[in-house]
Amino acid sequence: MRKIDTGKLVVITGPMFSGKTSRLLELLEREMRAGRKTILFKPEIDKRYSNAHVVTHKGIALPAIISPIDSKARKFILEKSKGFDVIGVDEAQFWDPKSNLHNLLEELVFLKKLIYVSALNKNIKNEAFETTSKLLSSADEIYTLTSVCAKCGNDATLTQKIRNNKEVFKKVIDVGGNDKYEPRCRNCYVQYRHK
Ligand SMILES: [Zn+2]
Repeated sequence: MRKIDTGKLVVITGPMFSGKTSRLLELLEREMRAGRKTILFKPEIDKRYSNAHVVTHKGIALPAIISPIDSKARKFILEKSKGFDVIGVDEAQFWDPKSNLHNLLEELVFLKKLIYVSALNKNIKNEAFETTSKLLSSADEIYTLTSVCAKCGNDATLTQKIRNNKEVFKKVIDVGGNDKYEPRCRNCYVQYRHK
């Protein structure tokens, strides 16, 4: 294994459907090919999923651990990541701001761990996720990905929630895929009207 000279926090951000998780897995896979022990944390948002292995495009399996997203996250992640060189975190926006995920991950960076995090940039009202914002401030390196606007094909940086072909702004945290959301560019994004 190539020794890790310095820790690093890498954040991959962008709207939904911009390939954040794929990029995260690619980066983790590179580290595994370099012989580094790698672990992936996923948020506990859907109890149907249990701990499992994620198999990357190239067929490398890595352990994926479901983590609490509240104040219990700190102890849990520190404990589970012992003995690992590289730590991935998927869908980091779901961690509660009270978890102070950015502080915890920076602690690990100072222990010379390589941390790769994917995080949604904005919610459906074009507002920042507090956890994502703090991670971006703490990052050593940031990848900003774009998607393709569902309306016009321009680069999309925002996520619109759709119901019956209409833009909606209810239930900001709502797990779903292209049945509920679509990527939009600045021109096609319909803004939330604050009353
Ligand atoms: Zn557009």
